[in-house]
Amino acid sequence: MPREYSNYINGEWVSSDSDETFEVVNPADTDEVVAYFQSSTKRDTESAIEAAVAAQDEWADTPGPERGAVLKQVGNALAARKEEATETLVKEEGKTRSEASGEVQRAIDIFHYYAGKASDLGGVVKSASGRNKNLSTKREPLGTVALITPWNYPIAIPAWKLAPALASGNTLVHKPASAAPNVSQILFECFEEAGLPAGVANFVTGSGSEVGAPLSDHDDIDAVSFTGSTAVGTAVAQSAADDLKRVQCEMGGKNPTIVMPSADIGEATDIVGVGAFGTTGQSCTACSRAVVHEDVYDEFVDSITDYANSLDVGAGLEDPDMGPHVSRSELDETLEYVDVGRKGGATLAAGGSELSGGEYDDGHYVEPTVLTDVTSDMRIAQEEIFGPVLSVLKVGSFEEAVEVANDVRYGLSASIVTQDISEANTFIDDIEAGVAKVNEKTTGLELHVPFGGYKDSSTNTYREQGDAGIDFFTSTKTVYVNY
Ligand code: NAD
Repeated sequence: MPREYSNYINGEWVSSDSDETFEVVNPADTDEVVAYFQSSTKRDTESAIEAAVAAQDEWADTPGPERGAVLKQVGNALAARKEEATETLVKEEGKTRSEASGEVQRAIDIFHYYAGKASDLGGVVKSASGRNKNLSTKREPLGTVALITPWNYPIAIPAWKLAPALASGNTLVHKPASAAPNVSQILFECFEEAGLPAGVANFVTGSGSEVGAPLSDHDDIDAVSFTGSTAVGTAVAQSAADDLKRVQCEMGGKNPTIVMPSADIGEATDIVGVGAFGTTGQSCTACSRAVVHEDVYDEFVDSITDYANSLDVGAGLEDPDMGPHVSRSELDETLEYVDVGRKGGATLAAGGSELSGGEYDDGHYVEPTVLTDVTSDMRIAQEEIFGPVLSVLKVGSFEEAVEVANDVRYGLSASIVTQDISEANTFIDDIEAGVAKVNEKTTGLELHVPFGGYKDSSTNTYREQGDAGIDFFTSTKTVYVNY
């Protein structure tokens, strides 16, 4: 019998006052209910906010090194449960075992990283413009913050919001995505085990309308950190801005990799292939467009087609090359885009169909897909496709490649494969993306540097991760002292 999980409010595991739950289903085997979670109401959300507000002063006054010690314990507690968290993540979201294990490790590392940061918070001292004066800044927590996260990195993204929020002395309410709340739940069990005081971090599951929206527009919430689609993020940003809350939304992408004639085509294929088909294409930074110079276009198309056809697709627990889509609706959307692409004039070079027969009949499986002869005006070259679908576009020059790469509303991650140092540096200067990579896949991030998008990929207010994570969750007070 699958377990029923509770909300975590004011240090207690509590049921929703709706008396209703929703189920989380294994995308590799839809007959398997992984767990039940609370269908929370607006009232539950408000209770969580009240608890977080009540715990605020005490947590803000707790010395940074003490807060850091708790975060370190959280990282240790998660490390002790790494195998369990990995399997849970595979079962609820569908990632392969290797991908899930890497993600859980990332969450552990993030807690350890911000444990150090909590001991090291500070401001700056500047020269005052007169004698017997001191001029300095100090950082203070914002207060009570709302953290709203998507399903596709269900432990790493919560970790990269929760850890800096707590390190800098905020209290919080976290709402995970309903498709994959199970590993966030594990994080909150680790908070409890690590001795995080009651009310400091609260966990409420449920819908966007009953939990997400009331969080983003509640008067007692001082800041909202959201990751998800551009459509929902835009609404969240507008609602948060109504009463001048600090807000940060990291959203969709349509990430390109440019392949130039100097590239080794084997290397370019690996870079594009892992970027496009890793995590079943369900990364905000996934490579969705290969923008390929005409001199190497045919060779690249042959090579990436072979790559896509060679991938072993299966249940994540068996650690294949690619797992299933998270849900039927995501799979349907991917198939719909393949159809839109073909009707729009693209050529289907690999994949394009739902997989069926044997274990495939149990889950949401799709073939890794390559569409060629794509032009920049096509919908499949413009809209985010959150699945393993790569569009290949042909260009005649480096300048055209950058123009095509920039010709979308999104600007999250972008890469180029080239041996030409001038192309590499011009690309870094001219690409409209928050992450620019040379000879590397568009996916994959380091935890100690800023992450965020340009254009409609982000509210472009603050970055996440590294020091930027602390910047978002703190205010700067400027101090003038005369003596
Ligand atoms: P989504 O926008 O549907 O949902 C994100 C979260 O918002 C969920 O917890 C959801 O329940 C909640 N929500 C829904 N309606 C709400 C409302 N009215 N008010 C407040 N919250 C609400 O996104 P998703 O399907 O979970 O995730 C996929 C999307 O996330 C993709 O577009 C992907 O590119 C994006 N993403 C971006 C990044 C990034 O860092 N830029 C990272 C991962 C995913």
